[in-house]
Amino acid sequence: MKIYVVGIGPGNSDFMTPMARAAIEESDVIVGYTLYVDLVKDLTAGKEVKSTAMKQEVDRCRMALESALEGKTVAFVCSGDAGVYGMAGVMAEVAEDHPEVEIVTVPGITAACSGAAVLGAPLIHDFAVISLSDLLTPWEKIEKRLKLAAEADFVVCLYNPKSKKRHDYIDKAADLMSAFKAWDTPCGYVKNIGREGETAVVCTLADLKENDDIDMFTTVFVGNSQTKVINGKLVTPRGYKGV
Ligand code: SAH
Repeated sequence: MKIYVVGIGPGNSDFMTPMARAAIEESDVIVGYTLYVDLVKDLTAGKEVKSTAMKQEVDRCRMALESALEGKTVAFVCSGDAGVYGMAGVMAEVAEDHPEVEIVTVPGITAACSGAAVLGAPLIHDFAVISLSDLLTPWEKIEKRLKLAAEADFVVCLYNPKSKKRHDYIDKAADLMSAFKAWDTPCGYVKNIGREGETAVVCTLADLKENDDIDMFTTVFVGNSQTKVINGKLVTPRGYKGV
């Protein structure tokens, strides 16, 4: 009775840890959002695969629990890291009344880290990760976090920057942060990290506004007051003297 909640990394299997691969290989049942199950299909031949559409997270957890209670080993696959806007916490909540089911979180490379690597080294110092999705968090709270992170001069990494319904949230976020960050602050964004169509753009805070390129498969990076562009790469200095 075991459920692995597996972070598979941002994209194809090159980004997956050997631990994640082993957890999937050991499992009888694979559960996950259709797109992520598809990303690991080279590992799932002969296994029972249960995939569901996007907004059925709790149902997916229940499916995983049911299979585990039947005595099967289950891998619940999430993109990036399983514990960063992933399902590791929800799985623990859903299985709360079944302590006999062992839940193992298998970490993965989150979009902040894989995207930062594509852009250069923007997160080198203190940074804040903020999701612009208000599906589960009130927008007022998101606004407060954006403002305070900007005021404290954090590098800010934005997840869920846009969806069809939230097309102007990134504009609002840029406006809010502009109270404390200059409009020419170096920024960047990466789409489809590690997947087909990966694209990275280095730009400024002003360029994040009315930007049709940014979508729900994009991670956005907003520099701090020290962040600069070096040979096309977005870099936040670590602060060493003499470089
Ligand atoms: N658990 C995931 C995050 C899920 S939230 C992780 O640790 O990476 C979904 C958001 O993550 C997306 O809206 C996007 O901002 C970011 N994201 C996840 N995978 C991505 C990828 N391959 N390329 C770009 N952004 C990605």
